[in-house]
Amino acid sequence: MMKKVALLAALLALACVCEGVTFGQLCEGNPNNNRRTSDSLGHGHYEGSGHGGAHHGLDIICDDGSVVYAPFDGTLNGRLTAYTDPAKAAINSGIMLEGEGLCVKLFYVNPDQTSGRVSKGQRLGVMMPMQSVYPGITSHVHVEMCDQSDPTKYF
Ligand SMILES: [Zn+2]
Repeated sequence: MMKKVALLAALLALACVCEGVTFGQLCEGNPNNNRRTSDSLGHGHYEGSGHGGAHHGLDIICDDGSVVYAPFDGTLNGRLTAYTDPAKAAINSGIMLEGEGLCVKLFYVNPDQTSGRVSKGQRLGVMMPMQSVYPGITSHVHVEMCDQSDPTKYF
């Protein structure tokens, strides 16, 4: 009987591998995944829906030109386009990563590759020159869950 209970508990624990996922270091020079808080151009926390300009992601500080790493094991699922505005072309790229029961979009990253498996901590690409588009902003990778849920709990 006790064995069955233990087995059931083990199976339940496996049912959602996403629960215990903690993202690894996302950007070179920011080992603690420190977040953009506020600067003259806005703020970096998740806002969900609400008053006008909702922010469906979390901004992790990343200096222009820094290496960006895979936050978990997964599969790359294509290049993303952040903007339609040609004035923002310099930072208009990102990469989608799926794995561990999660799907995440990383914006303002110029990806080395756009498909294939990557391991947690592996280089994904380079932070794009955000200062050239938003002078004075805290340069950052915008982390957004594909379902637009709050990514804060994974950090
Ligand atoms: Zn953002």
